[in-house]
Amino acid sequence: MLITLQSHNEVIEFIANHSSSPPTEIRRPVLSISPQSLASLSASIAATSGQAPLSLLVLLRRIRAFLSQPEKGGWRVWDTTFSRHLSLLETRIEYQQRSVKGKEKAGLPILASACPGWVCYAEKAQGDLLPLMSNVRSSQGIMGALVKNWWAGKMGLTPNEVYHVTAMPCYDKKLEASRSDFYNSVHQTRDTDCVLTTGELDLLLRDLGFDPLLPSPLESGNPPTDLENPISAPWPELINHAGSSSGSYLSTIITHMSSTHTNPTRVITREIRGSADNVEYLLEDTVTGQVIFKGSKCYGFRNLQNLVRKVGKETGIGKGARGAGKLSAAVAARRRKAKVGTGEIATPATPTTDGESTGINGIDMTLAVNRDEKKLDFVEVMACPSGCVNGGGQMKPVSGKRKAEVDEEGYERPIPDEGVEMEEEMRWSTKDWVAKVEEIYWSGLPTPPSSPNPNSSNVVKGEDRLGTADQLAEKIIEEACGEDEEKRANFLRATFAKVEGDVLGGEGGVTHEAVKW
Ligand code: SF4
Repeated sequence: MLITLQSHNEVIEFIANHSSSPPTEIRRPVLSISPQSLASLSASIAATSGQAPLSLLVLLRRIRAFLSQPEKGGWRVWDTTFSRHLSLLETRIEYQQRSVKGKEKAGLPILASACPGWVCYAEKAQGDLLPLMSNVRSSQGIMGALVKNWWAGKMGLTPNEVYHVTAMPCYDKKLEASRSDFYNSVHQTRDTDCVLTTGELDLLLRDLGFDPLLPSPLESGNPPTDLENPISAPWPELINHAGSSSGSYLSTIITHMSSTHTNPTRVITREIRGSADNVEYLLEDTVTGQVIFKGSKCYGFRNLQNLVRKVGKETGIGKGARGAGKLSAAVAARRRKAKVGTGEIATPATPTTDGESTGINGIDMTLAVNRDEKKLDFVEVMACPSGCVNGGGQMKPVSGKRKAEVDEEGYERPIPDEGVEMEEEMRWSTKDWVAKVEEIYWSGLPTPPSSPNPNSSNVVKGEDRLGTADQLAEKIIEEACGEDEEKRANFLRATFAKVEGDVLGGEGGVTHEAVKW
């Protein structure tokens, strides 16, 4: 399947055919929107309208109210944070399993793999490191299983009777959805049939006449949980996972380690070479001074290269172990194109759990040695500088010089040139724009932004929703998989393999160069 076939035109065509198809041939449409896409859309709407940004929840519910109308296709519209919750729970289980194995192949460190940009690179250029990759499905991967497996079953449908579309911050998510792990050969259907970038979702909504500023009666209160109801939400919406706007994988493991450790702990962070995209997190036992966990947030390909060398040296695995691993020519070319124009992008400061400021200034040097000797246990890897809020499929900054125009319905906004077709230099957003999207991402949610900080009031406030999500996740996995370990593995995990040559995905001839972040 060519990724170029996955576009908003495919969805438009589906909607057109939907209304004219006999009921027996109608596939039930589901749209799953990533929170990063919602934040990016909200930033763009605010910039073009001059109004305050819509919260992610309000925007999600307005889109749901609009698309659930029969003439728009009668969509179910959900966000992907509940599937991310399942992904994080499974990541915690995987960490426990691999910690027992210790520092050997397939043990630690775990390199998170929710980013298909990183996975593509690792499979093509760093095959030796694949045993260190997390095998947990990404939030998109698990959403596909939830929709095509669990929800379809509840509705008395087979997986191929559901048309599942996701809205994601990058083009690589299209390639991820095309992986063989996410193909159901029995029903000849993919867990996700079509992936739209945020820009493509925007084009789709505009084509269908969506007005984001029009309030909906459905945007307050709780949506029904009755599965038959098109405006239902069968799981908690927009669950706020503390830590990062790119998945919160590292924060989840730090919280787990801290909460299961006997003594009190504190988190110390240190930026590597002054980069907010390359930060080490040390979890220290405050009684013994021992560093009990060392994690890293590693975003962007420049940092990722250094990570590969570091992990190679620490584990003796891969090209890094033999010296400086070099990117393949194709990847190097992409990296050159993908340079950030205006320097590094700041992320919120991360205090330690005892309120100490970030960094390592003033620490006891004995402890410093301990900190440096500790090898990495877990890395949250993302290919994009600043992570998913800055994905290549996100909305681009709206130029103040651009004139607003009025469409046939009197709806004012600039001529769209975001989304699929964009100039090379516009692939990455500006520092200010990404900061705005990041800010919106964390606003209007049940808990405010938080760095990995297990003792903070933010986490305590969020416990009820997280607890509810935990229970529901367990129930759904039980209903979908029962005691069948193989089914469970298929539902929650994926596999990776070395890719030889330039062809990725095999079927359909998807090339590495064809993929854009
Ligand atoms: S970091 Fe970039 S390439 Fe990776 S999942 Fe996020 S948006 Fe996609």
